[in-house]
Amino acid sequence: LTVLGIESSCDETAVAILRSAGEEKAPEILSSVISSQIAIHRQHGGVVPELASRNHSADLPGIIRTACREAGTAPADIDVFGATGGPGLVAALLVGNSTAKALALAAGRPFVSVNHLEGHLLSPFLKRPGGPVPHLGMVVSGGHTLFVDVRGVGNYRLLGRSLDDAAGEAFDKVGKMLGLPYPGGPEIDRLAAEGDPEAFSFPRALMKEHTANVSFSGLKTAVLYTLPKITKNGDPHGLPRQTLRDLCASFQRAVTDVLIHKALKALRASGHRTLSISGGVSCNRELRSRLKTACDREKVKLVLPDFDLTTDNAAMIAYVTCLKARRGLFHSLDEDVDPNLKLTEDLNRSKHSTH
Ligand code: ATP
Ligand code: MG
Ligand code: FE
Repeated sequence: LTVLGIESSCDETAVAILRSAGEEKAPEILSSVISSQIAIHRQHGGVVPELASRNHSADLPGIIRTACREAGTAPADIDVFGATGGPGLVAALLVGNSTAKALALAAGRPFVSVNHLEGHLLSPFLKRPGGPVPHLGMVVSGGHTLFVDVRGVGNYRLLGRSLDDAAGEAFDKVGKMLGLPYPGGPEIDRLAAEGDPEAFSFPRALMKEHTANVSFSGLKTAVLYTLPKITKNGDPHGLPRQTLRDLCASFQRAVTDVLIHKALKALRASGHRTLSISGGVSCNRELRSRLKTACDREKVKLVLPDFDLTTDNAAMIAYVTCLKARRGLFHSLDEDVDPNLKLTEDLNRSKHSTH
């Protein structure tokens, strides 16, 4: 089965081609091309939806050609076409979705609309033979923080989520407050490595609550209120370099404390002995290394995605396309995109049709 996947939900335009010889073997990534618009949006301090969709439309044809060339295939060789159908920016989703549908129509092949969050959730299993196993999945991305009981492909139960800002959003907002370039996550990760995580005492919310829900808005506000106390007029640009590193390290320690505590809590509630993490924040080096230590201690198996699969990419979209296609789950070409698509609604979507 050769599958082409398109990702265009936010500010990455990506196309990947996967070849699968059955689920006992990990699929082969024939190509995975990502064109990031970060440099364009950075000038505005965040993603501008109109700019995102225009750039997707301008870039996608060339990226598809590149992906086909690198894979040594043509659209006519593709068995199934998939694209992110949500959640994301509606006009951005429409570009990738319509393109995949047009290719499917022209090739006379089926189409799969992929939930972007399911892409992140299952991405840690892409390079592993045997595919996704029942486990507790933590999705920590720019827009979501989810603790999911994964019972099988398409069989998900939400055990916890963020009540306000997503983990990645908290990194990005705090990065902005500290005068760091967008996106803040990688910058904070880098600066925190040389900072003192105990220099500032920041709050960890909902730690005693029995649920796996998290909240990062209080932490974000705590960083905001700290700034005027240690700077002139709260302007972060005058901060001594070491103070900036200490702020980043203390903030990052608070986020990772919360995520690790809640992941283990959700894991216990689920009864699983395997934990996976995914999404852009799963790139974070402190999160990865502390989670590894915690999982070793608890004798839990930790499944981490490779770095190239953590932030938005099309390989994860092609992977879900492949898993759905093997189960006979296709969508009709009039399937709409949904900017607010939920992970757990995927199960109840009645529009699945057999090609
Ligand atoms: P969603 O998938 O929820 O729609 P998204 O696609 O924007 O959101 P991703 O592409 O998965 O999210 O991840 C981007 C996020 O990951 C950004 O918030 C970014 O700051 C964060 N991020 C990337 N690298 C790191 C890192 N090393 N440490 C912390 N956060 C990081
Ligand atoms: Mg992005
Ligand atoms: Fe994402």
